[in-house]
Amino acid sequence: MLKEAPNHIYEVEFDMVRTCNMQCKMCNFWVNKQNPQRLTTEEVKETIKNLNEWFGRKFKIAFAGGEPFMRDDMVEIIKYASNLGIITSVATNGTLLTKEKINGLMNTGLNGIVISIDSLNPETHDYMRGVPGTFDKAFGAFNAICDSRKDLHSNPFPNLASIISKLNHQDIPAILQWIKEKGQGMLIVQSISANFFNHTKDWFDEKLWPDTVEDKEAVCITIDKLIEMKQAGYPLINDVAQLEEMKKYFKKLDWRAMIHG
Ligand code: SF4
Repeated sequence: MLKEAPNHIYEVEFDMVRTCNMQCKMCNFWVNKQNPQRLTTEEVKETIKNLNEWFGRKFKIAFAGGEPFMRDDMVEIIKYASNLGIITSVATNGTLLTKEKINGLMNTGLNGIVISIDSLNPETHDYMRGVPGTFDKAFGAFNAICDSRKDLHSNPFPNLASIISKLNHQDIPAILQWIKEKGQGMLIVQSISANFFNHTKDWFDEKLWPDTVEDKEAVCITIDKLIEMKQAGYPLINDVAQLEEMKKYFKKLDWRAMIHG
């Protein structure tokens, strides 16, 4: 490792677990049955302390996974990092955020939270996430966090994240519309892509992957709609250049080439 953090690095993604309680059609971390508590609480804290010393200045830790809240010590870990002055965010599928956990998070200093919602139609969201009832839990958690914030400037700042796939792309402008009307949070979108795990054919679901020229054109029309909304001031995190790159990605996409085994 370098003696000190290079100046251009200001954020570290800390993947807390390599397993998940969902059974998503676009990511198979859940196939890995690893113990979420593989690193002890003390080992995680020690890593954060070392990172903080390595940086020697303000930086951010983005806690992610798998599903980070499969660990039962996330509230304690986030609080520890915040108390060291580190900017913190966490990305979650939202299904394990009970009322008690949300109350705990409110007192950690957590700066931002990102919850996955792929459609406002529960059936579509639950299909993509592979577990019935997921939409209600995730959407409920997002609303509970919004309700728990003291005001629009207080932490954690709540964001929604949506995967753009063949199945749900037409639902995404409605999510953006909803979040604008809600008046809290922003949306970030991400193109469907193979994750970092095991690209075997048993987990690719053809319903999600744009395949024909018409499929790809339809996805690009949705992205153009998102660009228009972004330019009209809707709360979309992605910038226009990134959205344009997504269109190029979808036009060239050959998902079968990603599969091996
Ligand atoms: S996309 Fe997120 S929620 Fe789905 S299996 Fe992967 S880590 Fe879990």
